[in-house]
Amino acid sequence: MSKYTLAIHGGAGTILKEDMTPELEEAYQAGLRQAMDAGFAVLEQGGSALNAIKATIVILEDNMLFNAGRGSVFTKKGVQEMDAAVMDGRTLDAGAVTGVRNVRNPIELAMEVMLNSNHVFLSGKGAQDFAIKQGIKLEPDEYFFSQFRYDQWKAIRDSDTYSLDHTHQRLEELMRDKKFGTVGAVACDQNGNIAAATSTGGMTNKKYGRIGDSPIIGAGTYANNATCGISCTGHGELFIRAAAAHDVSCLMEYKGLSLQEAMEIVVHEKLMAIGGEGGMIGVDAQGNAALVFNSQGMYRGFKSSDGASVVAIYK
Ligand code: ASP
Repeated sequence: MSKYTLAIHGGAGTILKEDMTPELEEAYQAGLRQAMDAGFAVLEQGGSALNAIKATIVILEDNMLFNAGRGSVFTKKGVQEMDAAVMDGRTLDAGAVTGVRNVRNPIELAMEVMLNSNHVFLSGKGAQDFAIKQGIKLEPDEYFFSQFRYDQWKAIRDSDTYSLDHTHQRLEELMRDKKFGTVGAVACDQNGNIAAATSTGGMTNKKYGRIGDSPIIGAGTYANNATCGISCTGHGELFIRAAAAHDVSCLMEYKGLSLQEAMEIVVHEKLMAIGGEGGMIGVDAQGNAALVFNSQGMYRGFKSSDGASVVAIYK
């Protein structure tokens, strides 16, 4: 039996202790721990990495504090459109959905795409139809609403975030202030099988059907038993351009780097070079975990069969 490990994140960004109340910090810590313990229990009982990450992500999606499932951010049009992906490192099977609404747990839909469709990546209405056909649980808009995310969106909804004149400079700062709250989990089970998953509402005020890195295999999510499982969080556009998750795997496979070394190069060198703020979590087939970020903070944790157990928020 090999060492088994689960690592999780709940988003990265400008997360500063001075902006946090003790109650809120406690709530984040408790949310992370609850999700981590649930996933780890699956591994402990001999369950698969895939089932462990699913158990973890469902809990984080149901938790209003995180930008995934319930509590997702609002788009330019004031609705919530969610993305999710999962990958099985044993078979290199993958499933992903983008722009889905009213799906209670987008990770379950991504899993369904992987296991019970002939496709890898479904979008919008088609993904929705597939959800209905497969009997995936749906919820009304109200279920996903959180006042906090709504207020965040209201503050910037009348703006365009992508220009670079002065006004938008300030806006960029404002955006940066909005923590990236995506959730992710990666695991290596008792048999040395690896899986990775990511789920998100994307970025506040996103428009034109914008898709981030989270549901894109190789960008925000990747798993391969030969190397590692990775889930990213941060400014998705840059993670897509860096093919971030897959790049970690490549550095391990082609250059023989360790998980930690490979993640540090991608997060601190390659992403930084193009202004890609955020971080990622990873596990390798020996059950080693790594949690690396270049932002002020990242909600994160990992638990391993050797007794290690960590939940942390700040640098
Ligand atoms: N990476 C996500 C996206 O760009 C956002 C996040 O990590 O919070 O959609």
